[in-house]
Amino acid sequence: MIISNPIESLAKTSILTVRKLKLLGIDTYWDLLNYFPFRYENYSLISTIEKVQPGEKVTVQGKIIEAKYALTRKGTKIQKFILSDGTGKITLIWFNQPYLLRLIKKDSYLSVAGTVDKFGNSLIMEPNEYEIFKEKDQPMIHTGRIIPIYPERAGLSSKTIREKIYQILNDLTDLPSFLPPEIVSYNNLIDELTAYRNIHFPENMNLATKARERLAFDELFTIQLSARLLKKEWQKEVAGHQFSQETMQGEDINNFIKNLPFQLTEAQKRSLEEIKKDLVKPTPMNRFLQGDVGSGKTVVAAIACFLTYLNGCQSLFMAPTEILANQHYQTITNLLKKYPLKVGLQTKTVKINKKKGKEIVKDYDIIIGTHALLNENLTFEKIGLVVIDEQHRFGVVQRSTLKEKGVNPHLLTMTATPIPRTAALTLYGELDLSLLDEMPKGRLPIKTYFVPREKRPAAYQWIKNKIIQEGVQVFIVCPLIEESPVETMKSVKAAKKEFENLKLKVFPEFKVGLIHGKMKSKDKEKVMAAFKNKKYDILVATSLVEVGIDIANATIMLIEGAERFGLAQLHQLRGRVGRGDKQSYCFLFTEKEDAAIVRRLEYFAKIASGIKLAEYDLKARGPGDIYGTKQHGYLDLKIASLSDSDLIRKARNAALYFSNKYLDLENFPEIKKRVSRYRQKQIARD
Ligand code: ADP
Ligand code: MG
Repeated sequence: MIISNPIESLAKTSILTVRKLKLLGIDTYWDLLNYFPFRYENYSLISTIEKVQPGEKVTVQGKIIEAKYALTRKGTKIQKFILSDGTGKITLIWFNQPYLLRLIKKDSYLSVAGTVDKFGNSLIMEPNEYEIFKEKDQPMIHTGRIIPIYPERAGLSSKTIREKIYQILNDLTDLPSFLPPEIVSYNNLIDELTAYRNIHFPENMNLATKARERLAFDELFTIQLSARLLKKEWQKEVAGHQFSQETMQGEDINNFIKNLPFQLTEAQKRSLEEIKKDLVKPTPMNRFLQGDVGSGKTVVAAIACFLTYLNGCQSLFMAPTEILANQHYQTITNLLKKYPLKVGLQTKTVKINKKKGKEIVKDYDIIIGTHALLNENLTFEKIGLVVIDEQHRFGVVQRSTLKEKGVNPHLLTMTATPIPRTAALTLYGELDLSLLDEMPKGRLPIKTYFVPREKRPAAYQWIKNKIIQEGVQVFIVCPLIEESPVETMKSVKAAKKEFENLKLKVFPEFKVGLIHGKMKSKDKEKVMAAFKNKKYDILVATSLVEVGIDIANATIMLIEGAERFGLAQLHQLRGRVGRGDKQSYCFLFTEKEDAAIVRRLEYFAKIASGIKLAEYDLKARGPGDIYGTKQHGYLDLKIASLSDSDLIRKARNAALYFSNKYLDLENFPEIKKRVSRYRQKQIARD
């Protein structure tokens, strides 16, 4: 079947184009067929020139009777053509594209699509699309139909992509059979080949919708089936170490909880009960603990580590960055200071292994660290639990790495990324979900303000007073580190430059520090520690402070270029303050005060719930981004959309039906292939 052909074998395709396609991860015909348009233009109305009305979006076709080069009064080069179809004439104009005069010669036949305008007494068009007819009855690709518009990446134009996909579809006669026919008919889906044809070159918009529905269903089905199968596999596994029921309710654990510096919230208690139930099962736990920033996930994980210790096992606690590993190390050491547990730290800079070469770690009960924990030289004597902070899919891969090390531990994955429930169930269906949907008592909501440009000086002054009067500390976040050379990025405040500006001009009387992603991790550590120790009043940072930093004295967060962040991301940033019991503040600055941006930022200022914000972002993607091409970190969908809860439910039922009825994939090679491809992708992303 041609869909597995390598992209190099596509006729009439330059090496350069092939190289660009490969940059986009397109290696086969199939990959290219799965590169979807994000919108369409309807040029299906083919009109004679006589009947064309100004303002109409149409396709007109005819013979070029004049082709010439001209200059505007301001000196812009224009390429000007006159097209005649026997019923009338229309002037076609392009700006600054001299090669067109070589391409479109007098007497050639041309089809153009765009919006018609009137200039004096004559009709004029600046075509959006054109194609030259070399032979009669040549099929139209770019005009005279509803045309797909593709995201332009790696220097590939939408037009080239359209042409190449057309070429493949032209040769395509069938697809390997994928879904069992009863699933297709039960869910009212169109067949897959029709769907691929119509997602790219829809006969009408209704079919485009049906096509999207079918392909989105396929995608959601694959994801959910993969999750179900993974879960089934895991349920066959046996936990490396059996935990006892007694330890779950005994005096030791109860006293530990009683002696915490605070009372657990109801949500923390509930999640803990769910964890305890998992821990005593013979199969390893696979739990996903989701809770807004500051909802107190760390302590829940710490209790799970304590339970693991009571069962004579070790816990690994993995964080995505050194800064966070350090912070967890301090928090957990602190929580455990009255207990005989030994806590270790393993990062690129701090090591628990004393010697080079292989080492079995024995004398630590909890080992906290970064990826360095999976260092090949380290094995652990008795791992009972692995906690993974802020790295969603991480678990799937790490689990297999750990299994290679000969253990099969319980797994607790944590995230503060607000993921709407349907999304979580879809994308992480293989995990069991616990939700911390409640903040610890007495936490003051962070007062958030969108600051219009003219109020900026006043905001700076207000911040100065706060620092002087209350000794609080301030984060200032800027979107990028270096001024981007690209025109559109010029307005972006680059952290380095902004740092100089803030330090020398805005806040000369204060100590200002800088931290950014391109610094060595040792230096980052130093700056972070200095900030924690109040050596700086203000820390200018890139979005790196996003995850997990917990500094109670920092109560003001100022975000530059706020429009460049997603709401969920802004929420994460805001969550860096408001950790202690002092009132905290978040200020949003933007250089671009257009109505939509202001509305979005003002919505953000009003809403404190991360989930609500994520849902708003999801909805706001709306029809402008019909095919979900914008990536949102956890949203790794090609065509389905998480706002499509109906389709998600249908695909979920289908996956359930399928896995109950067919038990394995032996008779479904195409399903098998797609599931394993999805899994590989999942792993590659981590
Ligand atoms: P996150 O869920 O974002 O990881 P943390 O675990 O860092 O949040 O907790 C944020 C802060 O809240 C910490 O300083 C922690 O000590 C505190 N905290 C956690 N649980 C409670 C609680 N039940 N009551 C009061 N404070 C709590
Ligand atoms: Mg955290």
